[in-house]
Amino acid sequence: MSRIRARFWDPTGARYGIPTYPWQMAPPHLLTVRQLAARGLRPAGQGVQAQILWASTRHGAPGVRAAYLYDVRVALPKRTPTPAQLAALAKATAARRTCPDCRTDVGYVLPRHLGTCLDCAPGVAA
Ligand SMILES: [Zn+2]
Repeated sequence: MSRIRARFWDPTGARYGIPTYPWQMAPPHLLTVRQLAARGLRPAGQGVQAQILWASTRHGAPGVRAAYLYDVRVALPKRTPTPAQLAALAKATAARRTCPDCRTDVGYVLPRHLGTCLDCAPGVAA
């Protein structure tokens, strides 16, 4: 194991508080939220079980970055919204698209700094 990898190799959490792995070295049952979602799963209330740490060289934001991992064995299927929830969401989104001045659904979410559609906003060329 290289020194770079050894820096973040801490499966017991003695150094970092929680089990910590370098890139590509986490056990297969530990996944990120996005990896869980890709399998149709959610963390289901479990806290962060482990982390991956790596030294980022990204321009402008170098430093140690973390990806938090969850145990796939505790994960539960993603919940699907009920028809009532979908209806409520559709209603809320429609409200955000409806201009209070001309009272039409303009087809886009109204800019909050205007509060109206682009046609009703003063000083905004249509
Ligand atoms: Zn309008």
